[in-house]
Amino acid sequence: MSRILIIEDEIAIAELEKDYLELSGFEVALEADGSQGLKRALEEDFDLLILDLMLPGLDGFEICRRFREVKNTPIIMISAKKEDIDKIRGLGLGADDYMTKPFSPSEMVARVKAHLARYERLIGSGSPVNEIIEIRGLKIDKTARRVWVNGEEKNFTTKEFDLLTFLAQNPNHVFAKEELFSKIWDMESIGDIATVTVHIKKIREKIEFNTAKPQYIETIWGVGYRFKV
Ligand code: CA
Repeated sequence: MSRILIIEDEIAIAELEKDYLELSGFEVALEADGSQGLKRALEEDFDLLILDLMLPGLDGFEICRRFREVKNTPIIMISAKKEDIDKIRGLGLGADDYMTKPFSPSEMVARVKAHLARYERLIGSGSPVNEIIEIRGLKIDKTARRVWVNGEEKNFTTKEFDLLTFLAQNPNHVFAKEELFSKIWDMESIGDIATVTVHIKKIREKIEFNTAKPQYIETIWGVGYRFKV
């Protein structure tokens, strides 16, 4: 759940913003004093700040400036005067958005959501994402080499995992056992196509609800196997 801090000294407005955000599923904290608000914004982890401009203690300009020296959390600045918005922009304090009072609370919620989504994309773009294959109830995390069946994790040996992943990555394609053996096992491996059959059986026991009627890996008699989607 995203946490939002509202720094606003007009209690009626602060409560209205809080109500709308909570209705949209956000967790909301309120601060009415500028210095207290900045302190809390720096000490706790919020996902977004809604910052009024005219505040007792410390004004919104100063809060925004000091906060930005430390954190990149999105900030929506609220002002009673249109001309203040131009001033905020001009100062380049690092606010992400501006709204003038009176504003529509639904509009505010929409902007909050947009900024949170944008910020998450920004943060997410820097971190590696695991490569996941999801087919019905089967989830394969290729990066972590983990498999879940209807939410329950199952353990696979290296070759079972490689074989399952290979088939799932090439759905609706029939592979001969010889073909699968040469793809998954290296040439030095001792074994033959019976190895493939044994591995398919073990995989089915882990992923299929009924191994007699496989939902994922079908046997194509006389040919080989196909992953069905
Ligand atoms: Ca105010």
